[in-house]
Amino acid sequence: MRLISVSLIVIYSVLHFACQSSEAQRNPANDAPPAASPAPPPVADRFAYPLGPAENLTQAKDKKDEWYNAQDFGENNHLGEDWNKNSGGDTDCGAPVYAIAAGRIVFAENAGPGWGSVVIVEHVLADGTKIESLYGHLRKISKTSGDVALREQLGEVGNADGKYFCHLHFELRTEDCPMWRQAGPGYSTDRRGWLDPSDFIDRQRRGR
Ligand SMILES: [Zn+2]
Repeated sequence: MRLISVSLIVIYSVLHFACQSSEAQRNPANDAPPAASPAPPPVADRFAYPLGPAENLTQAKDKKDEWYNAQDFGENNHLGEDWNKNSGGDTDCGAPVYAIAAGRIVFAENAGPGWGSVVIVEHVLADGTKIESLYGHLRKISKTSGDVALREQLGEVGNADGKYFCHLHFELRTEDCPMWRQAGPGYSTDRRGWLDPSDFIDRQRRGR
């Protein structure tokens, strides 16, 4: 009987000590936490347009969808595309803006006069190439950090704090872009570092 009691005390002590040890490990005040290596961003293996209920849009003002590209990439030295609703004016204010592919938010704030709220998402393609998508003139940002899925909502179409009729200014950049992770000038004669957004999305959607 005495032996059993001693054994029980030993077992209890071991268990109690074990619990205390694991509590100590969980308490960051007792020890510096191990440096967390950030998880890699999700791979962007599928692309879609940033507006409308379907994944695809045509740039023309046609009956295939509700949206059209009012100012193309390169037109007037434009570094992006300006997407408007066919119905014009401010009829697109508040429409949801979606991530064009899986990625990670790297910028989400008001970028000042002419920009309004801006979200930039970094995407890693299957071959490791990095690009980023920029969504400008938003009236509201829905998500400010972390990873996003394809067509996860980022914000709402806005008017750059009253500067324009509502529309989405949408850019795509390569990693050598001089404005990587920044809002940028919107227009420039030098388009190195910027991609034609619709051309890129259409090529990805065709599988090349
Ligand atoms: Zn624009």
